[in-house]
Amino acid sequence: MTSDSDVVAPLRSRLQEIEDLGGAISLLTWDQSVTMPPGGAEARGRQLATLGRLRHERWLDPELERDLAAVERDVPDGATADLVRVVRHDLERASRVPNDYVARSAAHAAASYDAWLDARRTGAVERVVGMLERTLDLSLEYAGFFPEVAHPADALIDDADEGATVASLRPLFGRLRDELVPRVAAWSGAPPPPPLPAGPFAVDEQLAAALELAQAFGYDLGRGRQDLTAHPFAIRFAHGDVRITTRVKPDDLTEVLFSTLHEAGHAMYEQGVDPGLEGTPLAEGASAGVHESQARLWENQVARSRAFWHFALPRLQRRFPALAGVDADGAFRAVNRVRRSLIRTDADEVTYNLHVIVRFDLEIELLEGRLAVRDLADAWAERYAADLGVTPTGAVDGWLQDVHWFAGTIGGSFQGYTLGNVLSAQFFAAAAREVGDVEAHMAAGDFAPLRAWLTENVYRHGRSKPVDRLVHDATGGPLDVEPYLAYLDRKFGGLAGVR
Ligand code: ZN
Repeated sequence: MTSDSDVVAPLRSRLQEIEDLGGAISLLTWDQSVTMPPGGAEARGRQLATLGRLRHERWLDPELERDLAAVERDVPDGATADLVRVVRHDLERASRVPNDYVARSAAHAAASYDAWLDARRTGAVERVVGMLERTLDLSLEYAGFFPEVAHPADALIDDADEGATVASLRPLFGRLRDELVPRVAAWSGAPPPPPLPAGPFAVDEQLAAALELAQAFGYDLGRGRQDLTAHPFAIRFAHGDVRITTRVKPDDLTEVLFSTLHEAGHAMYEQGVDPGLEGTPLAEGASAGVHESQARLWENQVARSRAFWHFALPRLQRRFPALAGVDADGAFRAVNRVRRSLIRTDADEVTYNLHVIVRFDLEIELLEGRLAVRDLADAWAERYAADLGVTPTGAVDGWLQDVHWFAGTIGGSFQGYTLGNVLSAQFFAAAAREVGDVEAHMAAGDFAPLRAWLTENVYRHGRSKPVDRLVHDATGGPLDVEPYLAYLDRKFGGLAGVR
C-alpha cells in the first residue's frame, strides 16, 4: 500500500531541483550586483542564461507532468490542493512559452539594458528607441502565447500579480488618480517642514543604525545579511538565507533608513514563510503586489509614523550627535514632506502612485498600438504635467528613469507598486484592529505583536492562498482603496493642518 507522501515525494524532489536552480540563479544575480568585478559580466550573462534554460527544461520535463498527474489522481483529499494548483498553474504557463522565445528574449533583455545604460550616460537615445520597439514586439509575441486573455497586458500582469487584469486595475487606478491629484495640490503647497540635519554621517555608522532598526522589526541576521548596491533589493536563496542590499548618501540619513527598512520588509516576509513549504513554488510571496505591501507597510505605515520616531530618534541621536536638536515630531514631519517630483523612487507616499499610474497607462497605450515608442517621451511629459504638475528636464529624469522597460518586457512590471501601497494600508488597519494599541507598541520599540499578526495572516502562507483569499481572510474584505485614502487623509491632512 502506498501512502500519500509516497505519491507526493517524486513531485517534491523534482520541484526541489527547480528551486535549487532558482536559488543558484539568485545567488549569481546577487553576486553580479554586490561583489562581481566588471570583467565577469560576459561570462555571468552566459551562466545565468544557461541556468535559466535548464530550469525551463526541468519544468517541461514529461516526468514532472507524470508525477504531478499522479498526485492529482491519487491524493484527492485536499492535503496537497494548494501545491497542485500552483504547480499546475506554473507548468501550464511555462509550457506555453517556447524555448527559442526564452533565449531570444533573454538576449534582447541584455542588449536593451546595455543600450539603456548607454543612453542615460550619453543622451543618445536613437539606439534605445530601436531596442524598445523590439521589446514591444517581443511583449506582444509573449501575450500571443496566451490567446485567451482579454488584453495583451493581462498575460504579462498575470506573471507578477496573478488574477489581476487591465479590466480590474483600470477603474481602481483611475479612481486613485482622481482622488490623489487634488490631494497633492492641497498638501504640496504648504511651506515645507525643516529637513533632518545633513551630516555628513559615516557610512559604517549609517549601515549599522539602519540594520539595528531592521533587526528591531524582526529581520533575522542569522538567516540574512546586508550589503551595499546602487539599487537596493531583497533576494532569497532559501528559507535560511534571505539577504537585503541598501544604499547610503553621506548627507542624508533617510536614504539608508528607508531603503533598508523597505527591503527588510520584503525579506521578513520571505523569512516568515512556513518552512514546510520550502523546496516548492509555494515558498514565495503571494504576488508582486502583496510582496510590495509588506515592504511598504514597514517602510511607511511603521517607519514614517510619529510613534516609530519616538522610539527610533533617541537611538539615532546616540550614533549621530548632529540630530541632537531634532524632536520626534519634527523628524516625523521631515520624513513626510509632500512634494511634486519627477523621480518615482524619490516620491513621497502621496505622489508615488501617480508616478506608477502614468507608467501603467502608457504601457497599455503602447501595447494597444495607440502610442508609438517614438512618441513616448512626449506622452510621458504630457502626463507628468497633467498629473504631477512637473515637466522632465530630459530623458534621464523622464521616460528613461526606470530600468523595467529595458529589462525584457513592456507590461506587468509597475502595477504591483500601487497594489502594494493600497494593500499595505489594508493589512496595517486590520492588524491595528486585532492587535490593539499598535501605536503604543511601536513607540516602545515592541514590533513583535505586529510581526506576529503579519506572520499568522500573511507571511506563513507563502503562495498557498490565491491573493483574493489571502486579502479577504486577513482583512475581512476584498482589495479596497478606502483604507489607503483614509490613512493618507489622517496622516497628511493632519500634517497640513499643523504647518
Ligand atoms: Zn519593494
